[in-house]
Amino acid sequence: MCNFPLKLSRLMHEMSIAMNIVEIVSATVQKNHAKKVNSIDLEIGELAGILVDSLTFCFDAACKGTIAEGAVLNINEIKALGKCLDCDNEFPVEMYFAICSKCGGAAVDIIQGKELAIKSINVD
Ligand SMILES: [Zn+2]
Repeated sequence: MCNFPLKLSRLMHEMSIAMNIVEIVSATVQKNHAKKVNSIDLEIGELAGILVDSLTFCFDAACKGTIAEGAVLNINEIKALGKCLDCDNEFPVEMYFAICSKCGGAAVDIIQGKELAIKSINVD
């Protein structure tokens, strides 16, 4: 069994993202003189390499003792879409290396699914 270090490094990836979110939220809230953060809307693409469950778990830990403590994380997962550079076909993809579903071409641009963005912060 050697999957523990792997899981740990995965978790540290989500932890650093969670801490980043808390930092951005805290700065925004201070600028707006708000007292409390109710919820945070996030957009995460399927190909962004983020495990939503891990991120939620890490966020709860990262926001402890900050103004963001207790805020609800609303995560909107964005489906991954590729666009063939040869025939302009747009189709769902599961990873970065995709083959066009129409012409079989390998020149595919990922046009959606890499997002990691804070869409809105709901405060009091
Ligand atoms: Zn094509």
